[in-house]
Formats: sequence, C-alpha cells, structure tokens
Amino acid sequence: MRPIFPNYQLASGWNALLPPRQAHAPLKGKQVADLVVIGAGFTGLACARRWQELQPDARIVVIDASEIGEGNPGRNSGFLLEIALAEDANPENMQRMLEANRLTQKAMQSILNNVRASGLDVDLQRVGTYRAAASSAGLASLHNYTQFLEGAGLPYRQLDQTQLKAELGTNFYQSGLFTPHCYLAQPAAVIRAIHSQLADSISVFENTPALKITNSGGKWTVTTAQGELSCSKLVLANNSFAKEQGVARSRLAAVYTYAGITPPLDPELLNSLGSVHNWGLLPTHRLGSTLRRTADGRLLVRSGHSYEAELPGSKVTALLLDRLWRRFPQLKSNGLDKGQGFEHVWGGAVGVTYNTAPVWGEREPGLFISSGCNGGGTVKGTLLGNALAELALGQNQLDVSAIFGSPSWMPPDPLRRIGFEASAALESWQGRREL
Ligand SMILES: Cc1cc2nc3c(=O)[nH]c(=O)nc-3n(C[C@H](O)[C@H](O)[C@H](O)COP(=O)(O)OP(=O)(O)OC[C@H]3O[C@@H](n4cnc5c(N)ncnc54)[C@H](O)[C@@H]3O)c2cc1C
Repeated sequence: MRPIFPNYQLASGWNALLPPRQAHAPLKGKQVADLVVIGAGFTGLACARRWQELQPDARIVVIDASEIGEGNPGRNSGFLLEIALAEDANPENMQRMLEANRLTQKAMQSILNNVRASGLDVDLQRVGTYRAAASSAGLASLHNYTQFLEGAGLPYRQLDQTQLKAELGTNFYQSGLFTPHCYLAQPAAVIRAIHSQLADSISVFENTPALKITNSGGKWTVTTAQGELSCSKLVLANNSFAKEQGVARSRLAAVYTYAGITPPLDPELLNSLGSVHNWGLLPTHRLGSTLRRTADGRLLVRSGHSYEAELPGSKVTALLLDRLWRRFPQLKSNGLDKGQGFEHVWGGAVGVTYNTAPVWGEREPGLFISSGCNGGGTVKGTLLGNALAELALGQNQLDVSAIFGSPSWMPPDPLRRIGFEASAALESWQGRREL
C-alpha cells in the first residue's frame, strides 16, 4: 500500500549534517483557524507568509507530517534555479518563458531575503550550474536548451569534453554548457531559515500528518492523529500527497528519487576532481543523474526513480554508487568502494504531472492547492505559494495556467503504473548512457 503521508525509511542527509533543532510540538486537541496550510515546504511557508502579510490578523496554522528540514524540502539536491528547467524551456514560446523567468527571479529574491534576515549560517551561493550530455539523446535536449538561452538573451558558456574534465574532473560527458542563473544550497538549512522568518502569530505543528480532510457547511476540517483543525480556508501544499486527501488524483503522481552524499573527500582525491570547487550539474535527460561537489569537498549524486513507493535502502545505495563511479572511476579505487561510499543516502517523493504543469488554484470553495513542481519546486513552489495566498485573498494578478500550463489527465492505476513503468523502461534504455 502506498503511504498517505511521507514516512521515509532513510533520514535526510542534509538535515543530518546540521546541528539538531527543537521541533514544534505536534497538534493536540481541537483548534479553529482562518487558514490551515498542510505542508511546511517552500510552497506552504511562502503561502503562509504572504497570507500573513496581506491579512495580519488572520489566525494561520501550518502543519507538517515531518520536521522542518527533515521532510522533502530538506531532501532535494539544493539547486535553486532562477530560470526555467531544461524540460520546461520552450524556445517556441519565448514570451511565456521570459515571464516565468522574471517571476522566478523575484521568488528567488524572497528566498534570499529570508535567508539573510534569519542571520543563520546557510550555505547558499550563486555559483551557476552545468548541464551536460553523454549521448545523442542528451545532446538533442542540450541543443533545445541552447536555443532557449539564445532566444531569451541569457548568457551561457559551452564546454567540450576536455573542458568539462578540466573543471569537474570527469570525462563522462561529451558536451555541456554552463549558465550563471542558479544558486546551490544546503536545502535543509535554507528551509530552516525560511521557517525562522515566519511571523510569531503563525502557529506551526510538526510531526502532524493530515490524515483526512472533510467539508461541512462551508467549513473545512483537518483530522490529525491527536487533533483536529477547523478553518474556512484550507491550502494543500503537501505536494504529491495532496492526492491522498482525494484532491487532483487524476493529475498528480508521486515519483521517488534518491540522493547520496559522500563524506568530505581527501585533499588528494579532491585534487583529481578538476579546478572548480563548488559546482552542480543537471542532467539533460529526464531520467539522468544530478551531481554536486559541495563547498566542503563532498560529492552528491541524485538518481533513480520509482513509482509511488520507495526502493529498499540497499538497492538505492548500490544504484547511486554505480552512477557516481561511472562518472568518477577514481573514487572506486580510493576507499569509496566498500559499499559505504556515502555518508548519507536518502529518498524523497517528487510531485509529478504528465505534462510538468503544476496543479494550482481553488479546487472547491475554500480549498486551494499548489502542487506538482516536477522535481524543480524550490523557487517555483515559493512563487506559486505566494500567488496562491494572493488568489485566495482576491489579490491575484497572475495567470498561472497561461504561464506554466494546466496539468493534463492521467489514467488511474493500474494503467498509470503500467504506463509509468513502460515509459521509464523505454526512456532508461534510450538514455542509458546518461544514467
Ligand atoms: C532527491 C530530490 C532532489 C530534488 N532536487 C531538487 C533541486 O535540486 N531543486 C529543486 O528546485 N527541486 C528539487 N527537488 C524537488 C523539490 O524538493 C520539490 O519540488 C520542492 O521541495 C517542492 O516544494 P513543496 O513545498 O511544493 O513540496 P515538498 O517539498 O514536497 O513539501 C511538502 C511538505 O508537505 C509535507 N506533507 C506531505 N503530506 C503531508 C500530510 N498529509 N500532512 C502534513 N504534511 C504533509 C511534507 O512533509 C513536506 O514537508 C528534488 C526532490 C527530491 C526528492
């Protein structure tokens, strides 16, 4: 049976690298609020914060199934993109893309403001990102992205295999490009910092999964293990798990993906890894692997996918080690080949829609949702969470579906599962050199 809220088998590596923090107590008993937000991620916290700005007297409650930094927002690879992802980038539709980029940059600015205001020590740097291709499938996508960058007048630098090897220490890729429009972060630290900037009047309950939502006489009720919240406005910012509350089931799916981070590497090994010391690389193929070298000398790899359920930990470790060694064979012969090459390995659920458009807006009177950022939702989630608060309070100026599209219909299971597994198998085979 698939989980109705996130209950990951492995702890977030990013969160484990931070000092412990005291979580807010779980909800106990009944409470009444004007607004309840389910999900304290980039989307939910942006929505709560914007709501409080627009309606300072509102009683706002945010609940999360996990702890701040331990849940999905602290499980991602830490790429905070100021421009569209390769899969979203459409050179045919430049005006729409330029508007998306402008809004994304504004949302990034709000993240930076929060982080700065928090005064916390957060590793968040605008170091740009590489995109690289290892096969003809990846090269075609790289070409499409180059067209988009050209059309948008955005700067980039092209790299051949030798240059990539010199900068990153791998000759896995045939060709690549570098764009400056990306921050690399310790994501658990970022979400902790954003949370620390919420107004005191906003109540946050951690370790409080929403088990059920119901509506009676225009009031929404959220049932949790030890309590109940009733409210006139309810926001689902819990990503793919919104469908477990019966919302957007025909539009949303959960796809799990996995990451592993090494301990800080020996200086000698680091010297073999190229001239750039803090970098990130995004795949050009949908099922490809993300890579990072962190400022403190670790390597991170994010790869692998599974439909609606986590893979066993041992399988994940083996898969990630394989992906890392393909790129850095020198690691295999340097002590990282004992099956313990990673300090931490973990998984997370990505909210996926068929055509990558988000599920966004008012679904029923008083029930709002922003979900389905398809693996790139840190900045986009912030943007859409802000806009959702404005929509609910009658101040929205964004035509989200015109800019980001509307999510298309997906068949129910078992057809959906069969479709996912068949297309993943086909795409993995076609892009096997990118994995
Ligand atoms: C391994 C991995 C790597 C990724 N890398 C990147 C990246 O580099 N850059 C990027 O932009 N995106 C990345 N993503 C995707 C990114 O994490 C999400 O798009 C982004 O976090 C979306 O934010 P969100 O707030 O909408 O949803 P989420 O981050 O999923 O947050 C939803 C929150 O809701 C909570 N929740 C869920 N169900 C319930 C419930 N029933 N009751 C209460 N709370 C609930 C969860 O605990 C969670 O805290 C990655 C994802 C994974 C898994």
